Amino acid sequence: MLCPCCGKEVSNQATACPGCGQPFLGDSSPKSRAAVALLAFFVGVFGIHRFYVGKVGTGILQIITLGGLGFWTLFDFIMALCGTFTDKEGRKVTRW
Ligand SMILES: [Zn+2]
Repeated sequence: MLCPCCGKEVSNQATACPGCGQPFLGDSSPKSRAAVALLAFFVGVFGIHRFYVGKVGTGILQIITLGGLGFWTLFDFIMALCGTFTDKEGRKVTRW
């Protein structure tokens, strides 16, 4: 991709532009994908991974429903592994 600030070609994995130092928080979340996946796997039925990314409302819903009896949590876990899980602002959690 190209840096929106200076137009320099930058790796998609980069967290900031090596040319001008502009941080890339645009469409990827600063949260860790590994953390989301681990939290979803171990304590996902309590919605902890959703609290971690700031999705408090659906986190509480997962506590009440025990992660949709595990299915909703499993779905979130797979999404986290695939890098399609999103945080509160709708940014994908792609960074490990
Ligand atoms: Zn730049």
